[in-house]
Formats: sequence, structure tokens, C-alpha cells
Amino acid sequence: MAGTRFEQWLPVYGALILVQVLGMPAIASGQSLLGDNLRPARCSAGEVFSLVLHGGTAHSPSTYIDGIAFIQRLLKEARPALKAGATSVDIVHRAIRAMEDSGLFNAGRGALANKAGVVELDASIMDGQRMNAGAVASVKRVKNPISAARLVMERSPQVMRIGPDAEAYVGSRGGDIVNPSYFRLSGLTFYDVPVPEDVKIIAPGPGVAPELAGYSGIWGGVLAGALPILLVVEEVEADRARVLFGHGFDPGADIRTGHSERYDARFEFGAMLIDVETPGKGQLKLRVRPGKAGDLDLVYSLANGHRLTTALRKFQEIPGHEKHGTVGAVALDRCGNLAAGTSTGGFGSKVPGRVGDSPIIGAGTYADNKTAAVSATGHGEYFMIHVIAHDIAARMEHGGKSLDEAAHAAIHDKLTSAGGRGGVIAVDAKGNVAMVFNTPGMVRGLVTHDRAPTSGVYKLNLR
Ligand code: ASP
Repeated sequence: MAGTRFEQWLPVYGALILVQVLGMPAIASGQSLLGDNLRPARCSAGEVFSLVLHGGTAHSPSTYIDGIAFIQRLLKEARPALKAGATSVDIVHRAIRAMEDSGLFNAGRGALANKAGVVELDASIMDGQRMNAGAVASVKRVKNPISAARLVMERSPQVMRIGPDAEAYVGSRGGDIVNPSYFRLSGLTFYDVPVPEDVKIIAPGPGVAPELAGYSGIWGGVLAGALPILLVVEEVEADRARVLFGHGFDPGADIRTGHSERYDARFEFGAMLIDVETPGKGQLKLRVRPGKAGDLDLVYSLANGHRLTTALRKFQEIPGHEKHGTVGAVALDRCGNLAAGTSTGGFGSKVPGRVGDSPIIGAGTYADNKTAAVSATGHGEYFMIHVIAHDIAARMEHGGKSLDEAAHAAIHDKLTSAGGRGGVIAVDAKGNVAMVFNTPGMVRGLVTHDRAPTSGVYKLNLR
């Protein structure tokens, strides 16, 4: 590896001073997304480093503004840290932990719930220097699954731990255990509510009474503990409103597919009334009025006279899989060590107990200093069957392919011909990066020793 050579043979404190003397800044600490106490690696360091982050695949023309801005901030912070010698395992772990805590992605706090409304999390991390890995799957109370995966990697002889026993293990080792209500979308499953692309909220005009204007926006709830419903009040006028009402799939009832339609709502004594035509259920009536703490109270009257009630929570944007992705990170540090990690809530509205590729070493995550570090996102079952992350490393190791060739072949030949959708981010031992996907976009960004932080969803303008 090219660049300044220095020996970090001194203890950590001495190494920090040595690093400073040689012109490398100390690793940033204090108020930061990555957190403090990042220790420089001990090695004969080169100059090359790379970090790539992803926030899942993108399917709609949405710009994913919040996720991209967050990734950009992380990349900006990670650059001086990597420059100062932070290890790839630390950076991958800290970046994913920050994304989990942000609530902006389908991982950690913002993870999508399964069909029963329960958030079940999967994560894995791999250290390509030591060829060590750790993973957790189906955990429901672990605040940071990526930290749990790292704990399993570094402190237990196993590679994967699952379910309540994994939670008990994490708790007993000082990991953060939280109540399920910590997860933002706990109890809410929206993925199977089909929402048209053209949803547009028009701000209520001055002629609209403020109590009616308050209905404007996106509202969601779960009826009878099982049926996800979405109410998008797109336009409120003085005496009527245009509303999109949608419901998902109810495994316990005879609603087999999600459905959404636009309706005209009318106001009566401050309540909003909507007559809904539901396939197989006939005419229903919705009555909505302001509830507690900014919620709306909904009464759902069935044709047979039964009534169901739920509170509807307000959302900034339509919750669902498409704007809300799995997260992953791959890094090469200045010591030439590779690491990869992935964290997810899995598919929104997945069957309880379903585990995807993200915690499976070789499928959703892989790192080997000899070849590459890879993190995947997309339809996990295909990544598992075709062992996509390891397939990229194997094409490089046994087939002599470059990172770019290997990643393209794995995604555009293997995955695509199998009918799978998704993509990978990857970095090789020389610091080359690849971001390859067969979906319309992937939320992602990268930074290297010689490339400024760059992020985007569709085209990335890279030098
Ligand atoms: N790969 C994840 C899974 O199948 C989902 C995703 O990346 O969107 O669980």
C-alpha cells in the first residue's frame, strides 16, 4: 500500500501522539453520529481507505431525502476518523448503529413490523482480517442489533444467536434491551397497503376552518390488532375532503389482498365521514374525529352493524418498505483490513419468524481481506439461495475477476436470471468500490481517501 508508513507499536495513548506528530488528526470525539472512543488500529498503515454505506433498495421516484442526508453526514464524519486510523470493524459498526438509532431506515428504531405488528430484527458483521463473524436474528427487544452481532462475534464462540435467548445474552453482557414500543413502527404494518404513486397532499387554503384543516396529512393505524389501515387526507376544502383510504392484508380475516381507493369525505359537526366500498365486505362507514395527543379516533362500521375503533397516528410520509430500507456498510481501513455489516427489520409485513439474508454470513454480509467486503439489500430469499455476498468474493478468489466484474456478474447474471431483485455495496482490498443493483435505485453513498463524500439514490456523479 502506498503512503506514509508509521509503526503504531506504542500503547494507544502513545500511538495517538505519534499519529498527531505524523500529521494525522486524532479521531474525532464528542457529539457525533459515530460516537467517541474510536481507537486507531495498530499496523503499518497506508493511505488508502474506503467506506460505502447503503440504506436499502429504491423502487419509486422518491428522493429519500432524509436517508440520503443522514448517510452524507455519516460519510463526512467517517472520513477524518478513517484518516486518523479508525478500524474498518469500528466504522462499519458505528455507522450502522447510527443508522439504526436514526429511525430513518428499516433497521433498529425505524424497523418495519412483521404481519403481526411485531418488530423482529436481524443483523450481522464480519471482520475480514480475522475471518470472524457474528449475527443475531429474530430479536425483538435489542436496541442495536449490529452491536449485538459484534458482541456475538467478539465475545462468544458462536457465530449466530437468535430470538429471546440472544436477547438474554445481549442483556447479560451490558447490551441495551428496550421495550418493543421503542421501535417507531411497532404495531404497524403498511407494506401490503397498495398506495398509488400520485399521492399529493395539498395544504388547506385560508377558507378552511382550522379544526378541519387539522385532518390534512397521512394517518395510519391497525384495526382489531391485525388489519393495517392508512388514511391519506390529500385535500381539505371548506365542506369536503379528498381522501385515500387503504387497508392491508389481514391474515385472520377474509381480506386477502390490500386495497386502496379515493373517496369524497364530508364533515358533520367537526367529524369527517367517509363511505367506503370494500371488496367482499360491502359498504362500510368511517367516522373520524380528533383524538388524544394529535391522533385521530376512527370508528369503522361494518355493513352488519359491527363497529371497530382504532387511533390513527400521523406520519410525515407514507410508511412502508419502499422509502425505508435495510442498512449496510463496507469499509477498508488504513491497515488494509476489510469489514462488512448489515442490519434490517426484514420485509415489512413478513411472516413472523421469517429470517432473510441480512444476518446470514455469505448471503447478505461477507468480508475477507483476500478479496472483498460485501453488504446486500433486496429480496433476501434469493440472496440466501445464491449466496450472493460470498459469490462475489469467490469469483474474485477463484475466477480472478475484479471487484466490479464479480459484483456485476453476481447481480446482473446470477440474481437477475433467478428472478431476484436487489443489490450490493462492496469494497476490495485495494479500496476499489462497487455499488451494483437491478432495482431502479439504491440509497447509498461513499467516501474514500481521495473522494469526497458522495451520496444518491439513482445516478451518482463519481469522479
Ligand atoms: N434483504 C432484506 C431481507 O430480505 C430486506 C432488504 O434488504 O430490503 O430481509
